[in-house]
Amino acid sequence: MANTDRWKRQLTDHRSKKVVFLSHCLLNQNTRYLGGACERGATPSVVAECLERGWGIVQMQCPEQRAWGGVLKRHLLRYYGSQGTLLDRTRNLVLPILLWYTRLIYRRLAKQVAREIADYTTSGFEVVGIMGVNGSPSCGTEQTIGFRQSLQRVVNLTSSATRHDMNAIVLSSLTPGRGLFIDALQREIKRLGLNVPYLAFDLPSELREQPIAPILSDA
Ligand code: SF4
Repeated sequence: MANTDRWKRQLTDHRSKKVVFLSHCLLNQNTRYLGGACERGATPSVVAECLERGWGIVQMQCPEQRAWGGVLKRHLLRYYGSQGTLLDRTRNLVLPILLWYTRLIYRRLAKQVAREIADYTTSGFEVVGIMGVNGSPSCGTEQTIGFRQSLQRVVNLTSSATRHDMNAIVLSSLTPGRGLFIDALQREIKRLGLNVPYLAFDLPSELREQPIAPILSDA
C-alpha cells in the first residue's frame, strides 16, 4: 500500500480522478429498442458534458442486450404484433419465467458494476454518478415503464406500426420509479457500503425532440 501511494505521488499526471458510469446506449444508441434511437451513435450532449467536466466515462453493459437476446432483443421482438397468436395466448405463463431470468442476469451484471465502482473508490477515484435512462424498464433512475403494461401494448402493434407508435407506447407508459437493472444495482451498491449519486438521462424529452436537461443542474 505504501509502495502504491509512493508511485501515485511520484507519477502524478493529468487524470481528473473522476469517472461517471453511463448506461450503455448513451454512448451507443444502436442498442436501443427499435424506433428509440434519436442519434446515429453516441449522445452528443452527454459526451460533451463529460468532456467539459473532465470525467472519464465508464460504459456499463446494456442489460437488455444481455438478457433479451442480443442487440435486437429478439426474445421481446417476437411479441411485437403477436396479438391472438399462440405466443400471445401463452404470454402470461412465459412472463414470470422471462422476468425471473431477467432479474438473474441483471443481478450478475449489477454485481460486476458494483465491484468496478468499489475498485475506483478504494483506489482514490471519485465516481461522480451512475447515469441511467429515464423511461427505460431496465435503466430508468427516476422514471420507468411497467414491463407487463408495455408488453401488452407491443403485442397490439399493427403491421403498419412506425417508430412513432413505439415511442408513443413508451411515453404513455411512464411511471415514477427505477428500472429493473438500476434497482438491482442499487441493492449491490448498498450491500458493498458504497455511496454513489444517481443521474438521469431524459429520454422522454429526447423522444419528444425537446431540449434535454444537462447531467447536473449547475451545468
Ligand atoms: S436504457 Fe439500458 S437497457 Fe435500454 S438500451 Fe439503454 S443501456 Fe440498454
